[in-house]
Amino acid sequence: MNLLLFSLFREKKRRRVVELAEKMVVDGGDGSTCEWEGRWNHIKKFLERSGPFTHPDFEPSTESIQFMLETCKILVIGAGGLGCELLKDLALSGFRSIHVVDMDTIDVSNLNRQFLFRPKDVGRPKADVAADFINSRIPGCRVVPHFKKIQDLDETFYKQFHIIVCGLDSVVARRWMNGMLLSLLVYEDGVLDTGSIIPLIDGGTEGFKGNARVILPGMSACIDCTLELYPPQINFPMCTIASMPRLPEHCIEYVRVLLWPKVSPFGGRKSNFFYCVALDGDDPEHIQWVYQKSLERAAEFNIRGVTYRLTQGVVKRIIPAVASTNAVIAAACATEVFKIASSAYIPLNNYMVFNDVDGLYTYTFEAERKENCSACSQVPVDLHFSPSSKLQEVLDYLTESASLQMKSPAITAAVEGKNKTLYLQSVASIEQRTRPNLSKTLKELGLTDRQELAVADVTTPQTMLFRLCFTS
Ligand SMILES: [Zn+2]
Repeated sequence: MNLLLFSLFREKKRRRVVELAEKMVVDGGDGSTCEWEGRWNHIKKFLERSGPFTHPDFEPSTESIQFMLETCKILVIGAGGLGCELLKDLALSGFRSIHVVDMDTIDVSNLNRQFLFRPKDVGRPKADVAADFINSRIPGCRVVPHFKKIQDLDETFYKQFHIIVCGLDSVVARRWMNGMLLSLLVYEDGVLDTGSIIPLIDGGTEGFKGNARVILPGMSACIDCTLELYPPQINFPMCTIASMPRLPEHCIEYVRVLLWPKVSPFGGRKSNFFYCVALDGDDPEHIQWVYQKSLERAAEFNIRGVTYRLTQGVVKRIIPAVASTNAVIAAACATEVFKIASSAYIPLNNYMVFNDVDGLYTYTFEAERKENCSACSQVPVDLHFSPSSKLQEVLDYLTESASLQMKSPAITAAVEGKNKTLYLQSVASIEQRTRPNLSKTLKELGLTDRQELAVADVTTPQTMLFRLCFTS
């Protein structure tokens, strides 16, 4: 499968090289004023000679490097910890047509690892500063910044890229991007047109752990196929926090969730009513209070390890970012981009795990497609409910099921020939109008067995279709 796809990509790439050559004859080319002798020797060693690890069909040539330098268009999503590394790695590997999308501005706490940024850049958009830095430092490289949300760009934008690399810290954004690339696939009589595939290379890090994966949308496991691998946000069970703490984090959560609202420190009386002050993770006095109370709680249960730093981490839900992990994962992702763009090596199949919490541990495995993946299988997912179930139960299922994990699903259905919004959360007035539906049963809402439900959510740009199957 991998080999077949590989040669298809190579064909696709060749066609583009020919198109470009023709175009260059017309425009007179873009000139290679910034080249110097031996500039790309490190890349040519991989592309202009064969080796023991090259792809079986690989033929050394000077064409590949031209494709990378002149034609191949790469999109980097995220200009943060992974994004800075990715931009640098890709630009030094010979990719010169790169776009970068990021909606954030630079914070002073980014400067220890997001090395394209300097103190003078604090407050400026990450995408703009990162692009300026690379363009001025690496001659001939053209990084185009987009200070935007990925959701603000449409399919005509995404379609122009050969390969997309994600360096994101959000599962929702990853799923949206995955959904966008799936929506670009073209099926003819149920057969996927491989020319419509844009490979997605996804990197992720969390502290000393990371992963890199290669996704060929419609062909290999997508983000949603393996959604169960992403644990939902860490929330400790309330019973553990309240009565059986075992970890220092449990003690801090006890103070944050239960003690703070009860005691209401820093609150006070204003004229005739008592007011609470919300816990502010950036207020040192607040953190100090939580820290002291957590220490008391920890002493009571003989638990060690509560520190001021951990307290702040738990309260602010900080996942420490480690520069070296970002560097390793970004390098792995950039290598995969290089392998796919050059067709010289077999790409990662398809998931690499990296962990250097204790020593160093890494391995790869093939994540498998899920037959009934709600994002990529093209099969409507069945929802089994009794006609007397309430709409609220369906909503809960959509958000709580490990394989769906939606955030704020909007449900519509055709009822008696009319499209009806059953529930929509994101617009206050519609939420108010549709809220009573949540406590109605499916039968009362006029829904029938085998009925199609259309669900929109922030996790995907496409509307998802579900089939309601009544259980008796
Ligand atoms: Zn899938």
